[in-house]
Amino acid sequence: MISKRMRPLVENNSAIRVMFEEGKRLASLYGVENVFDFSLGNPNVPAPASVNQAIADVLREEDSVTVHGYMSNAGFSDTRKAVADSLNRRFGTDFGEENIVMISGAAGGLNAVLKAILDPGDEVATFAPYFMEYKNYVANYDARLVEVPSNSETFLPDLTALGNAITEKTRAVLINNPNNPTGVIYPEESIIRLAELLSAKEKVYGHAIYLISDEPYRELAYDGAKVPFVTRYYSDAIVVYSFSKSLSLPGERIGYVAVPDKAEDAKDLTQAIVIANRVLGHVNAPSLMQRMLVRCIDEETDLNAYDRNRKLLYEGLTECGFQCVKPEGAFYLFVKSPTTDEIQFCESAKKYNILFVPGGSFACPGYVRIAYCVSYDTIKNSLPAFRKLAEEYHLK
Ligand code: PLP
Repeated sequence: MISKRMRPLVENNSAIRVMFEEGKRLASLYGVENVFDFSLGNPNVPAPASVNQAIADVLREEDSVTVHGYMSNAGFSDTRKAVADSLNRRFGTDFGEENIVMISGAAGGLNAVLKAILDPGDEVATFAPYFMEYKNYVANYDARLVEVPSNSETFLPDLTALGNAITEKTRAVLINNPNNPTGVIYPEESIIRLAELLSAKEKVYGHAIYLISDEPYRELAYDGAKVPFVTRYYSDAIVVYSFSKSLSLPGERIGYVAVPDKAEDAKDLTQAIVIANRVLGHVNAPSLMQRMLVRCIDEETDLNAYDRNRKLLYEGLTECGFQCVKPEGAFYLFVKSPTTDEIQFCESAKKYNILFVPGGSFACPGYVRIAYCVSYDTIKNSLPAFRKLAEEYHLK
């Protein structure tokens, strides 16, 4: 018999995964080229050739026992130094290797951070819409995720609502920038105002309120948009980064957490994250990927490929009459459902072999998320199907 805690999770197994399975079913019926599956945030751009080359070089050139062995639970010293140096070069920070913990992707990193800071009954505030796993991650530590609305026009943080939602129990505010599912980037102005609010609330309650910034999409920012680096604006900030999207390595499980010295209890906090990583069963981040990173820390994905997709899909959909905020980052469009029941809208789309995810899965009903990390041809070929869908709703 499975646990009471797991039962609802098994019953509500992620809508995205369900869609993914549905995509496979439709592909077997109609052929892959006739199914337009926009359900999953799995990068379609291959990992840079230099990453694969570096993995091969590590295996050929480095000591096999070291490459496959345990290391300090925080990660290899030279990998953490490479991460710290790269951040310092790019964002003017002053991290050393002691500020960096290597983790297994953002999912592993967020869990380690939350385990490190949460006691039962604590609260973590986040802006809706949000990545649905946040709720489960926070519940893992018997704490509560408090949903705060975003501005309904811009999907930027609603700071008045956040101010009202913060209580004595709030240990952290969790943001995701660039954002899944909206594709919006919180600009410097938003981060400055958020930092001011949190500093004021810390004074009121007399304890740290950590700002956790979940940043798997940091490098996916278009038209020169800048993603503010939160530790520059707020002392009690923690950055959780992943190479899943930026180097197209989601199956490899590699990322890092950065904790600045000026964060409250920085040394204890870093140590707690390292131990949380171990006792959660990750032990340490995958060794081969850490060795690769020493050689590839500043490698970049083919941003152009996503940008072409973004432009084609955004223009194609808005021309048909669909409404959405123009995404500046990540690889998602968050489109307003032409009917309030967006699940019904998803069902209608399936008639044209189009698959996307209902906004309810991101605590934001009335919208759908379209992941455009697919081939350019998939988008091009899907546009006539989207046009038919728009006609069904008399959009134009
Ligand atoms: N956070 C957000 C907002 C995501 O979209 C994802 C994955 O899609 C994750 C975290 C988990 O990423 P990772 O593969 O690095 O664990």
